[in-house]
Amino acid sequence: MKLTVLGIGSATPVLDRNPTAHLLTTEHESILIDCGEGTQYQILKYKLKPSKIRYIFISHLHGDHYLGLIGLVSSMNLGRRTDDLHIFGPRGLAEILTLQFQCSNTFLHFKIHFHENDTEKAQQIWQTDLLTIESIPLSHRIPCCGFLFREKPQKRKIIKELLPQGLSIEQLKGLKEGNDICDIEGKVLYKNDALTKPADTPRSYAFCSDTIYKPDIVEQISGVDWLYHEATYLHNLVKQAHERYHTTALEAAQIAQQAGVKTLLLGHFSSRYGSLQEFQTEAQQVFGNVVLAEEGKTYEIKSTKTTNAG
Ligand SMILES: [Zn+2]
Ligand SMILES: [Zn+2]
Repeated sequence: MKLTVLGIGSATPVLDRNPTAHLLTTEHESILIDCGEGTQYQILKYKLKPSKIRYIFISHLHGDHYLGLIGLVSSMNLGRRTDDLHIFGPRGLAEILTLQFQCSNTFLHFKIHFHENDTEKAQQIWQTDLLTIESIPLSHRIPCCGFLFREKPQKRKIIKELLPQGLSIEQLKGLKEGNDICDIEGKVLYKNDALTKPADTPRSYAFCSDTIYKPDIVEQISGVDWLYHEATYLHNLVKQAHERYHTTALEAAQIAQQAGVKTLLLGHFSSRYGSLQEFQTEAQQVFGNVVLAEEGKTYEIKSTKTTNAG
């Protein structure tokens, strides 16, 4: 599971920062999370493949989180995309895009499935072969939710070098499920743990977009591997942060610390700040493992321990 950050800025544009967009990729899937203005240029710049994106999740309808969508989808159409695209977003997004396509007389060569998020509820909203996705209710000036991506438990891994010759496909499948290899009388020929090793612990990524400090999300995101949390301001501007329904770096770190996450990724920095180092320093007062998001950088979300799952 890899995460590429495409934008670290907030609403007011600045030349050297792009608005929010993250690309989460797994072995089979490419998922775009938020799509601020210019996201398709960031995708080109960092040599990512828009054709592979099957899912787009939009947290809320402030422009710095979705104004890149019409451009990206239009370019997918110019590129003769035929694969279905799933777009998850709050109420209104489907109407906005549909009107834009109508007014530009655009006919898509592929199908868009719109899914309306209930931004008030923490619930599973989708699953793929590898992942489940939940909404995380956030508190912002307009309806807004984050997203929690969790890998499903995987099957045990076969140690190829130790495999005896001549096993059937059924026996190999059984090994992955944790079964022993037995003869027709049921006598164990090979114990499962002699031929397999445990699956990796499922990895998880929580994306917490624009929100005021909201500690009641802690339970839902407890123990995730990577938590992205907005940190628009430093804590000396906490009053301003709260008036605008945003979070400070210190507060984001408090959420990370309370939730016991492994890594905290900060972004959505206000245009008023040139240097960002102070965000890390401030957050590290309460939480050790803080990463400042950098545009174009890809972070590997690793599992930290193994389990006997599956
Ligand atoms: Zn924003
Ligand atoms: Zn916003």
